[in-house]
Amino acid sequence: MNKKVPFIDPARNYQLIKNELDQAYFDVMTRADLINRKDLDDFEKNYADFIGTKYAIGVNSGYHALMLSLKTAGVGKGDEVIVPAHTFVASCSAVVNVDGTPVLVDVGEDYNIDVDKIEEAVTEKTKAIMPVHLNGLMADMPGIMPIAEKYKLIVIEDAAQSVGASIDGRKAGSWGTTGCWSFFPFKILGGYGDGGAITTDDPDIALAAKRMRYNGEDRNTRDYYGHGYTCLLDNLQAAFLDVKLRHLPDWIIRRKFVANRYKNAFSNIEELILPHYDYPGFDHVYQNYVVRTKYGDEFSDYLKKNGVEVLTQWRKPYYKYDALALVDRGFPETEALSAEVCSLPMNVEMSDEDVDYIIKVVKSYFESK
Ligand SMILES: *Cc1c(COP(=O)(O)O)cnc(C)c1O
Repeated sequence: MNKKVPFIDPARNYQLIKNELDQAYFDVMTRADLINRKDLDDFEKNYADFIGTKYAIGVNSGYHALMLSLKTAGVGKGDEVIVPAHTFVASCSAVVNVDGTPVLVDVGEDYNIDVDKIEEAVTEKTKAIMPVHLNGLMADMPGIMPIAEKYKLIVIEDAAQSVGASIDGRKAGSWGTTGCWSFFPFKILGGYGDGGAITTDDPDIALAAKRMRYNGEDRNTRDYYGHGYTCLLDNLQAAFLDVKLRHLPDWIIRRKFVANRYKNAFSNIEELILPHYDYPGFDHVYQNYVVRTKYGDEFSDYLKKNGVEVLTQWRKPYYKYDALALVDRGFPETEALSAEVCSLPMNVEMSDEDVDYIIKVVKSYFESK
């Protein structure tokens, strides 16, 4: 076995849509539309339509989408925000950087926040909850929204990993006060550098976010409405993302096809836990295809040694880093899964032969057991 399958292959992905991307590049460069121009407006409109919200506001990263959402929704000093113990560190850092206090809650077997553990984390200071839709599967929003209503919590969805995912046809990023998006190159809708967006139905939040991303300045009146940031989504990135958005529905179908091939190939391997759930109404878009096995690093090292590039996110939970100064209240599911997870290659640019090869390597590992 001597083939190599990368985790993602941006150069091959580029070849799939090279003509359209090159055209977008020449258009933008010829017009010299560099900051806050038509391509950004167009993309924002199309993105809001796709998610099903009134507004989308392009920013320069998923982190800034989260941070600006918290800020414009009024989360600040002394406010507690519930975040999952198993997520990318940025979800939590956004809370800390608006002077809020993150309160971590364990996740369930689907890697998303455990709804049954939310209420015990609520205090008088709780102001918001940040459900994270990890790996392409939404957190249980029908379970979370009534809790948020009961305690009057602001809901900020970290939807960075779930573009196109839905529950009962209602898409991620359209349930909370805001939905927060990342267009980091690894994401399903990835740009060519950093990028992000906020989606919302709230006109005040949309307006405030638009001002804050541009140094607090209103582009129409030229007045300042507060101390802001410089964190616009680049106009050129928006043009590229608009091209990719047109391919997104087909690309999600392809991801589901690959996920199904993995499922068919591995479902009789008892020691391998697969990311397929029979939750009625949930549509999984497989940002990541995360499997779990008690063999942990031995399994992921074997795949890497045999040319299959995998990710193990995250072996060390973020709250275990002393420098982040977070409260570890004990999160047994997060601890257990952290030692066992392994993300197999999942993207639209790999070929059927690549998938065959990955399947062969995974099977060979368990045959040797
Ligand atoms: C990628 C990601 C982010 C942050 O996105 P950036 O664009 O890298 O800032 C936040 N939360 C989750 C769950 C992510 O996967």
